[in-house]
Amino acid sequence: MSSANLTREETAARSASVTVRKVHVELDLRDAPNSQQLVFDTTTTLVFDATASETWIDFIGESVGRLTVNGVERSVEYDGARVEVRDLAASNTVIIEGKGVYSRSGEGLHRFVDPVDGETYLYTQYEPADSRRVMACFEQPDMKASYTFVVHAPAGWHVLSNQSVATLRDRDGAQTVEFAPTLPMSSYITSVAAGPYHRVDAAWTRGEQSVALGVFCRPSLSAFLEEEEIIEITRQGLDFFTDSFDFAYPWGKYDQIFVPEYNLGAMENPGIVTFTEAYLSRGAATDAQRGGRANTILHEMAHMWFGDLVTMRWWDDLWLKESFADYMGAHASVAATRFTDAWVRFAANRKAWAYEQDQLPTTHPIVADITDLEAAKLNFDGITYAKGASVLKQLVAFVGEDQFFEACAGTSPHMPTATRRWKICWCSSKTSLGERPRLVEGVAGNEWRIDAVARGRRRWPADAGAERSASASLARRAVRPR
Ligand SMILES: [Zn+2]
Repeated sequence: MSSANLTREETAARSASVTVRKVHVELDLRDAPNSQQLVFDTTTTLVFDATASETWIDFIGESVGRLTVNGVERSVEYDGARVEVRDLAASNTVIIEGKGVYSRSGEGLHRFVDPVDGETYLYTQYEPADSRRVMACFEQPDMKASYTFVVHAPAGWHVLSNQSVATLRDRDGAQTVEFAPTLPMSSYITSVAAGPYHRVDAAWTRGEQSVALGVFCRPSLSAFLEEEEIIEITRQGLDFFTDSFDFAYPWGKYDQIFVPEYNLGAMENPGIVTFTEAYLSRGAATDAQRGGRANTILHEMAHMWFGDLVTMRWWDDLWLKESFADYMGAHASVAATRFTDAWVRFAANRKAWAYEQDQLPTTHPIVADITDLEAAKLNFDGITYAKGASVLKQLVAFVGEDQFFEACAGTSPHMPTATRRWKICWCSSKTSLGERPRLVEGVAGNEWRIDAVARGRRRWPADAGAERSASASLARRAVRPR
């Protein structure tokens, strides 16, 4: 097995012995416009505690030039995917200097030259495990850290990351942008974009909270951006989710950028959501197309809370954040926007996708057994997204919408930021669209849970005795009223 394929078992052991605190990433992208230049310098400083004497740090690049552990330069042991780190102390500072490779596949730091203006546009895409193509890191969702990005880029470019710019210095025809440290977050949702993008600024204000909204695309598509509609949906979504989750948007600003040659629909990087340019119509768009775009904007926005703020431990819970966001994309469209037919389109498109994939030999339970990254990559499909969302829709119909959202909002504000994780358990692994979910329960005291079923508004059917007793035990846990 390639050492790039991380397993559930070894990553669980790593997170048990390593507690990551801070990660500082410095990227030198000044030569990006030179297409002959295939690599870029990347320097990562990782601060972490360890109970083991050695571990590894993930990096997929051209080379690792230098490794420093607690101030001492060490010989580099690098196999193309892992950097071995030995002689660790209780608290450690590890610096890894390497050369990353500009991507042409959409994995890692993608580089695109627009044939219209000849300019270079960069953006990152990582899920499930490609941030290690840009920085050295602990590439697993449960090892959250505060990230600080520093980017050297050509002068005049917009340089974006999850956070707002803290300092900006111009020197010798280039700029150095340092971003504010992020909240604790997983590596796969960190992000950087840079280039002479077209930019539209707006804001969303709610009470004392004001969130800067940015909408970006390359200038040659700016005539098709329809920023007013995008910003309107964004504001409607932020209003809706703030109320529904009873938790203020936590990531500072909210940028949305339409990027070229994107190999998926959109990605929920906190504070900088990336979208495919396919959402920008060069001709007259149908209302169904606009509704589809609104749905995706809201799907990614739901992830700001569920997926980004609270996060799966490992990829076998991918279905939960995706089913939840897929459900919320349609639900919020109906509840908060003019696209009130979103569930009709869900039934005609998303759910049809689930039916289709469910008939293939490759079908699998919604809650799949994801033993390693290779399995995780295979799981971004109609089962994980749309079939799961269909089952969640049944759950909401069963327990009641008010109870469902009360449970969603009920626990998250009380959890410590660094350890927000969640998990939902179903009664069996052979979930199907016709099967009722048994119970949704938390796995630990401080982890997020939906225990709407335990609220007692509806009784479980007579053939579900085991479920009733499980509900009763959960009913003793108080849910904070909204
Ligand atoms: Zn999603």
